[in-house]
Amino acid sequence: MSLGESGETTYSGHVGSDLQDSFGRVHRDLRISITDRCNFRCAYCMPEEGMTWLPRERLLTYEEIERIARVLVERYDFDSIRLTGGEPMVRANLPVLVEKLSSLGVDLAITTNGATLAGAAQDLADAGLERINISLDSLQAERFFELTRRDELDRVLAGIDAAVAAGLAPVKINAVLMNGINDDEVVDFIEFGREKGVSVRFIEFMPLDADDNWSIDRVVAQADILDAIAEVHPFTAVARNNDPANRYVFDDGIGDFGVIATVTDQFCDSCDRVRLTADGQFRTCLFATDETDLRAMLRNGATDDELAEAIVTAVGNKWAGHQVNNVLFIRPKRSMSQIGG
Ligand code: SAM
Ligand code: SF4
Repeated sequence: MSLGESGETTYSGHVGSDLQDSFGRVHRDLRISITDRCNFRCAYCMPEEGMTWLPRERLLTYEEIERIARVLVERYDFDSIRLTGGEPMVRANLPVLVEKLSSLGVDLAITTNGATLAGAAQDLADAGLERINISLDSLQAERFFELTRRDELDRVLAGIDAAVAAGLAPVKINAVLMNGINDDEVVDFIEFGREKGVSVRFIEFMPLDADDNWSIDRVVAQADILDAIAEVHPFTAVARNNDPANRYVFDDGIGDFGVIATVTDQFCDSCDRVRLTADGQFRTCLFATDETDLRAMLRNGATDDELAEAIVTAVGNKWAGHQVNNVLFIRPKRSMSQIGG
């Protein structure tokens, strides 16, 4: 390791080893956004109108995505890849990408709003998809419409059933909770999960909404979520490993749930994740304020060694952790759907 001209840490491009940052965290988990577009307009994520989409030529092709993933898997033993967006299901021929990535031998997952999943779950499973997270922020049709600005609750519920029927496992439900909006549904979600045999993960509202309406008062804190559930179904905490969610199993043996407490219980110490945006920018944190332009490198004929060196340098400069809920916090320029949640 040495200091570059700009004073930044640079690495000499060694490959075939752990992708480790300067705090000793080893990275094995890649999150890939494949589009910034979406068929929903969730209030905590996108404005109702006025999003500007990336021009198609700036999106990485499936071959370009596979190449970057292959570098990470073959050189740094990445074992987990999740596809996200925007809404990944709106990108054409998704099973083609799933097949390419699953052939790398990684644990492959997707995060989707589930609206078009009913007709696609089996094809995705057949292409090699293993796990799925489906976002669902209300079980009440009117509230679902207010939150997503789409009248599609029934289609999402059908998508969840289709994912289970296709053998995707585990099926997890992502629910973003906001005070005064859907915080009264915590127990309803838990009952839903136990009944369907799916695991609910509650997510604290993060300051990455395009409308910049986030405030700490709107965050439903992990402690309040746990209190609400404990009143109805006692549970026990289990080891988290590198999972961003704190995990709990119910004491009666029926199911489990998780909480992603980005705001009130930050988990940066054990972070093993890096990210690739739909336009080929490599990021070392959801909240990072800088990116490495791998698309430009790919399209300028970079070798795998050169890509690997840029990745090693970026990870070497990864910060200790984000500053959400702290005066030092600087919002990234892109919102959640543009980075890939
Ligand atoms: N469209 C897909 C979906 O909704 O599942 C994938 C992309 S979405 C950006 C990924 C996850 O981020 C979803 O579970 C969504 O609820 C969550 N999310 C979006 N904006 C958020 C915010 N401001 N705070 C917390 N979670 C957010
Ligand atoms: Fe679309 Fe997902 Fe954002 Fe909702 S959370 S607007 S479904 S990208």
